[in-house]
Amino acid sequence: MTVLVLGGAGYIGSHTVHALVEQGADVVVVDNLETGYREAVHPKARFYEGDIRDRAFVDSVFQKEKIDGVIHFAANSLVGESMTDPLKYYDNNLCGTKVLLSAMVAHGIDKIVFSSTAATYGEAQRMPILETDRTEPTNTYGETKLAMERMFHWTGKAHGLRYVSLRYFNACGALEDGSIGEAHDPETHLIPLILQVPNGQREAISIFGDDYDTKDGTCVRDYIHVTDLAQAHILAMGHLLEGKESGIFNLGNGVGFTVKEVIETARKVTGHPIPAVVSPRRAGDPAKLIASSEKARRVLGWNPQHADLTEIIGSAWNWHKSHPRGYKKE
Ligand code: UDP
Repeated sequence: MTVLVLGGAGYIGSHTVHALVEQGADVVVVDNLETGYREAVHPKARFYEGDIRDRAFVDSVFQKEKIDGVIHFAANSLVGESMTDPLKYYDNNLCGTKVLLSAMVAHGIDKIVFSSTAATYGEAQRMPILETDRTEPTNTYGETKLAMERMFHWTGKAHGLRYVSLRYFNACGALEDGSIGEAHDPETHLIPLILQVPNGQREAISIFGDDYDTKDGTCVRDYIHVTDLAQAHILAMGHLLEGKESGIFNLGNGVGFTVKEVIETARKVTGHPIPAVVSPRRAGDPAKLIASSEKARRVLGWNPQHADLTEIIGSAWNWHKSHPRGYKKE
């Protein structure tokens, strides 16, 4: 089986490539290295540097490689940036996916696993969130991911494409051996930013709003380990290869932690006091996001192994303290 991973040099992509290679798959990676790192790509994967908006480039990869299925991570994914530069998100996320799907249809490739997000829901009606719940994104990032899902749906109807869309909640943690992990520049995600404090790169962590309607006033999120997410992509590709139908699945642990609880856990894990400063709310942030992943467990047989927040933050800390500058050379 040959799997093409688009965005395989990024955070969740690189962990999925690693898991695929370790489980015996033949893996091709495409990444434009805008936010990904060549060093994150498993040495046994064949790497092509290029942009999915470039149709000639995508065609050339499909001509050279015999691809059984595609896993698609190639997108911009920062909530805050999507609010200040929405058209960047429409361009890369939507236009890129449109070019990709046109090429897949032309080359007769009909299976895609897609990296979607809890941000498709917006302010949820109830907790935990089910896949059938209302989708009304509160930010451009979520809006583009939802539109990409609809693009798969209608392309499926017209051309027989089958897809699995995985709506993840808050991806975090790193590979157990600390060889790959989360590296964004600039970093905007809570756990890596918290860990910059004990790493001596930041004085304090900002808490974006403590006046939300939650138990301690700070936002609640469902944190899910990146290696559990990687495994879900492999199960989803297996589901499509077995000829099963398209579907949308939430991926989370079903447990919510406030920003303050995450900071407190990081203090315990690192043994550092990690000062915190309350700052204004960040635009586009819903108060609470917790997944029901019952469907992924039932249909895909997904069984996350790292639900414990201390373990998740421990694995992130293992990566960040050994790679304080991510993949960049000292
Ligand atoms: N957050 C925060 N301070 C930071 C970064 C994030 O308080 O420096 C909050 C953010 O407002 C959200 C939660 O932490 O409620 C998780 O944010 P992150 O960007 O990690 O993921 P998101 O939920 O936006 O996908």
